[in-house]
Amino acid sequence: MSEARVQRLLGLLEEQGLDALLVTGRQNVRYITGFSGSNGVAVLRRDTSALVTDGRYKEQAAREAPSWETDIYTRDITDEIRARLADSTSVGIEDSSSIAFQSRLATALPDVELKPTSGMVEQLRALKEPGEIEAIRAAVESAAKAWETLLPMIQPGVTERQLAAALDYRMMSAGADKPAFDTVVASGPNAAMPHAKATDRPLAEGDLIVIDFGALKDGYCCDVTRTVALGEISKRAVEVLGAVRSSWDAGFASIAPGVAAAHADLAARGQLERLGFGEEFVHSLGHGLGLEVHEKPTLSKLSKETLEPGMVFTIEPGIYIEGEMGARHEETVLLTTDGCEILTKGINL
Ligand code: ZN
Ligand code: ZN
Repeated sequence: MSEARVQRLLGLLEEQGLDALLVTGRQNVRYITGFSGSNGVAVLRRDTSALVTDGRYKEQAAREAPSWETDIYTRDITDEIRARLADSTSVGIEDSSSIAFQSRLATALPDVELKPTSGMVEQLRALKEPGEIEAIRAAVESAAKAWETLLPMIQPGVTERQLAAALDYRMMSAGADKPAFDTVVASGPNAAMPHAKATDRPLAEGDLIVIDFGALKDGYCCDVTRTVALGEISKRAVEVLGAVRSSWDAGFASIAPGVAAAHADLAARGQLERLGFGEEFVHSLGHGLGLEVHEKPTLSKLSKETLEPGMVFTIEPGIYIEGEMGARHEETVLLTTDGCEILTKGINL
């Protein structure tokens, strides 16, 4: 698995005229080597590549990245990297690595031209392999089981925090390694903040409650939002819920292989504008996910990306009315050659 990814990345290296690439992003290192520790750099070269890490990870690196030569550094990681790159002339370094690290490397390798690179591994990660899609399905399964047992708990008087804690506990009981991100439970006026933190507010009759959650399983995430109407809700709230759903449908219907990501955003946004809620949709339509909960592609009106089969991303329009209410509907979907599969479809109200 890692070998095919390495070959694809070496192809990109050649296109950019680089002799070597330093992969520093934690999830990028994991994607390329299999190593999931918190400290490691992959030195990728056409001849011999190596994973550089410290002594704490000797055993883990051997287990998770068996096909990689591993260098263990004792003093400074740049010592080992320098030894690997002494004969290189042009080396790419991920531009997400820290400035401090880049300047230490520049000092260690005065004769090597270090070129910041952007999004090379991320570009590969955007197209999921079958094994990755299976991992995302497994994450969805934990989230779905947790959701099913949470539903009876959504009652007046229960606080947002209690609900968030219960959902996290249930996802882990159902086999998730952990929640993929801080679970959002935002009720009543709190739901007007797209990324609200759960508070001690008790749920009340008439609330719309935005619950945004996801499980992390074997390194892969899922991401889903449901808006629950508690008891009798206002006419305005009914209208908001309906508008979010029809915007979601418009976004979904616009998606096909080869469609611009920006087009999908505009389709969903256009629907909300027609319904009078254009100003209240304050974020982009969706994002790719996989090893991280936000990765390529970005479904925003400014995105330059094209949607391709094998991409997994969210569709999540929302309406946020300050001081009043909020609603969002989010599914994780997989784009295939014949259409779009909703991976989180089994998570129902
Ligand atoms: Zn979400
Ligand atoms: Zn999301």
